Amino acid sequence: MRRALPLAVLATALLLPAAAAAAPKPGALSAGDPLFPQIGNGGYDALHYEIDLDYDPAANALRAGTRTTITAEATHDLSSFGLDFQRDLAIAGVSVDGAPASFARRDAKPRLSRSRKVTQPAKLIVTPAAPLAKGSRFTVVVEYSGTPKPIVDLDHTEEGWVRACSKSGSCDGSFTVNEPIGAQSWFPSNNHMSDKATFATSITAPDGYTALGAGDLASTTPAGDGRTTWRWVESHPTATYLTTATTGRYDFTTGSMHERTSGATLPLYGAITSDGPKKRRDVVARNTRDIPAMVNFLAKRFGAYPFGSVGFVSGWVPAIGYALENQTKPHFAGTEKGPEVNRPELLHELAHQWMGDDVTGRTWQQIWFNEGWATFAEVYWGAKVNDSGQSPRQFFRRVLEIDKKEYRRPPADLGSPLHLFDAVPVYNRPGAMIEGYREIVGNHRFFAFARKLTGQHRYGTISEGEFVKAAKRASGLGRGGERRLGGYFRQWLHRAGKPRITPADFR
Ligand SMILES: [Zn+2]
Repeated sequence: MRRALPLAVLATALLLPAAAAAAPKPGALSAGDPLFPQIGNGGYDALHYEIDLDYDPAANALRAGTRTTITAEATHDLSSFGLDFQRDLAIAGVSVDGAPASFARRDAKPRLSRSRKVTQPAKLIVTPAAPLAKGSRFTVVVEYSGTPKPIVDLDHTEEGWVRACSKSGSCDGSFTVNEPIGAQSWFPSNNHMSDKATFATSITAPDGYTALGAGDLASTTPAGDGRTTWRWVESHPTATYLTTATTGRYDFTTGSMHERTSGATLPLYGAITSDGPKKRRDVVARNTRDIPAMVNFLAKRFGAYPFGSVGFVSGWVPAIGYALENQTKPHFAGTEKGPEVNRPELLHELAHQWMGDDVTGRTWQQIWFNEGWATFAEVYWGAKVNDSGQSPRQFFRRVLEIDKKEYRRPPADLGSPLHLFDAVPVYNRPGAMIEGYREIVGNHRFFAFARKLTGQHRYGTISEGEFVKAAKRASGLGRGGERRLGGYFRQWLHRAGKPRITPADFR
């Protein structure tokens, strides 16, 4: 019996350091993105967002009762964790697993810009009443209200919760486009594509308004006070930057389309602003009738359409001036003259449903993957279907004719989020690189490669290394050829100057 005591003491002594190592610690306040260290958080994996907005479009305000519920899993023992959420909205309370949690709000580090016009990303740091054990599932509820402010990016463009103001000067509702970080202007999240999650978005708005979220329309429920709740469910993993809650006066239609590769019948949602010249709206209606043909053109080459519904939103918010590939509902902001959806742009945003939305570059530095493929698809479809007058091979040659000054910034080394949407490094050069790869390996191997990417990385992300490795494997070139291909991708992605290796070097 006496011998038991020293043993027990010994056991305690051995256990102590191990117990100390497993002490709960705060989750990281960055996802480690090379261009945006301010965003994303560690220590948990977000699984599902339930967003409930009570929205007053005339005042552009989220009313009391607005809340976001996040289901997540702890990836280490957590004492506290961060969410990405701007400080413009007042928080009424935060709870974790039903118990009130304490919270703090602060600017994310480091400072993004010295300009006061540029939005500084912010954090909401939540400390639950009791630590969360590694592997445990937990639910966070954040209740908030107020008027969301749009995010102003380094290039001074607006994103996130943008008030919908048409050319005529009337402002009514929101036009919600979140690339790259706008999600945190209207709901708290782990705002980085490396942590995709499913979404249910419920928006209560006055009757007569249309409220649009990602995915399928699950229900429209009268609230009984002259308002209706629109509930949208996207059951496929979605990056936060591809979600939406656009609400306004729209001509809203629901239909369906037949996707030929899978045989699926997909709901097809269309929303065209009720504002703006009727002629322009009619052109949008006409051009978007091509969506089923475009989806089938792309599905034949990139694999079955990855999501459960198809759609588009054509607004009139000229201050935005761009289109965005929101998951299942690409958004088109229109121009000074009115709403606009042109066919090449529509094809581009639909191509993103596979390349960008389904398979996403793992960090913002890999935006060349999303835009390279969408640019290639636009060019390829343009030549095949739309009489663009430019073959993909001509496109490749024209990109190499661009002034060499435009080649200074390589796609895989943008240096700053200021260059996230630069035409040559992000769109043309990666688009030409992908076209060049098609010329090197031929159509059959090329599109098999595209389908392999969407098959193996479905609803996930892809790194540069994974892309290059898969492209080499799919090439059928043998070891010497694969080595040359490695050099090809290195030049096209990393060389500060015009790449010298072209498909001619593989003949
Ligand atoms: Zn694009």
